[in-house]
Amino acid sequence: MSTNYEIAIVGGGASGLAAAVFCARERGSGSGIVLLEKSPRVGKKLLATGSGTCNITNRGAAPENYHGNGAAAFVTPALTQFPPQACVDFFQSLGVLCAPREEGREYPLCQQAGAVLDCLRLELSSLGVTERCDAAVTAVTPQNGGFRLTLGSESITARRVILSTGGAASPSLGGTSDGYALATALGHRKTPLFPSIVQVRTDTTFVRAMKGLRTDATVTFCLNREPLCSHTGELLFTEYGISGPAVMQISRVVGDWERRKNGDMTAEIDLLPTVSETALLSLLSSRKTLSRTAADFLTGLLHKRIGQTVCRAAGFSLEQPMNALSPNELRRLAATIKRFPLPVLGTQGLGGAQVTAGGIATDDVDPRTMMSRRVSGLYLIGELLDVDGDCGGYNLHWAWASAYAAAKAVTA
Ligand SMILES: Cc1cc2nc3c(=O)[nH]c(=O)nc-3n(C[C@H](O)[C@H](O)[C@H](O)COP(=O)(O)OP(=O)(O)OC[C@H]3O[C@@H](n4cnc5c(N)ncnc54)[C@H](O)[C@@H]3O)c2cc1C
Repeated sequence: MSTNYEIAIVGGGASGLAAAVFCARERGSGSGIVLLEKSPRVGKKLLATGSGTCNITNRGAAPENYHGNGAAAFVTPALTQFPPQACVDFFQSLGVLCAPREEGREYPLCQQAGAVLDCLRLELSSLGVTERCDAAVTAVTPQNGGFRLTLGSESITARRVILSTGGAASPSLGGTSDGYALATALGHRKTPLFPSIVQVRTDTTFVRAMKGLRTDATVTFCLNREPLCSHTGELLFTEYGISGPAVMQISRVVGDWERRKNGDMTAEIDLLPTVSETALLSLLSSRKTLSRTAADFLTGLLHKRIGQTVCRAAGFSLEQPMNALSPNELRRLAATIKRFPLPVLGTQGLGGAQVTAGGIATDDVDPRTMMSRRVSGLYLIGELLDVDGDCGGYNLHWAWASAYAAAKAVTA
């Protein structure tokens, strides 16, 4: 096996696989390109995306969907070069047909993340790119205008190196801090890491009783009672707190707060987002004629277990007859339904997160080429960088778009 390459791509995840295809296509062949993957197989995280269906991109991908220090400006050139349509066209060229779903999300028509990975690998193989698994890179050292890469006791050389080692989120799917160590050893700076697109831990006094229940709700995270952000969608109550799209989409603020703890964070849950508080008050008032106890007062309006928990949280015992509620009591109950308060404790950490916020500082990377401003010939792409996207296909889009920018530059 050769030990001297033109281009070494370190990390066989979404961005590394795409970079390998783009580089090989630009050069007309994969000869001289090696893709090095630490795990026994490439693309482990990619297989888990979209719960196995792979939300490949988002039609609305725009700079404002990306976060991190200066991220919106940083991602702009790469998104301009590789917009969502280019992504759909790229996958079509690999044989993966995409189909639109809600909120601009694009998925493979076959709804199989495995097919996306297979098509990327088939293309790599037909282009002749060398794929090496169980190949953890432990050091990248500049040498003679190129690089020496250390893989355990072995070393190889490459004229150019693309670091695509991903972030630290979801270690069970290959998330690791390796890339931060490799890049900082080469003089790059790392911003603090924290979890994003993650489940949230809350006080469980009332939540546990609703464990396993899903409902449409608006979740608002408040810092010192000031609303920070809201999202409406499906909410899932869990053993430890709250999850589901309504929470995951805006969970970044909780991850950020968790590392600073600069005040009190609460989640306010509107359990009936389509009903105004005024309309709810008259609804509740009319229910008094049902002559029920609190145990069933909200049955038929909310899931029974949620209704009972709301009544308890509003200070009613389940045996209490509800036919003689005072206007104040009605207002208290309506307010609890519209703003069910949950003290937030934190997140499920990087272990449970889909994405790492923070990473290698982007001000040391050229946004048009992804080339390091510190080490010529070194390129950094994907989640390794201090760029994280919203939930909805934006993170994979960044993986593809940053890979495209680097591949264009590295082969120019
Ligand atoms: C459960 C889950 C679901 C998700 N669903 C979606 C979704 O539907 N849509 C979306 O847009 N995003 C989704 N994401 C996020 C998305 O998967 C990531 O943002 C994306 O995979 C990042 O690509 P990457 O190439 O930067 O990193 P990764 O895909 O993590 O790839 C990095 C690779 O580098 C390898 N590596 C690390 N260190 C070394 C080393 N020293 N030597 C060699 N190899 C190394 C790793 O083993 C890994 O294979 C999801 C994430 C998770 C965890």
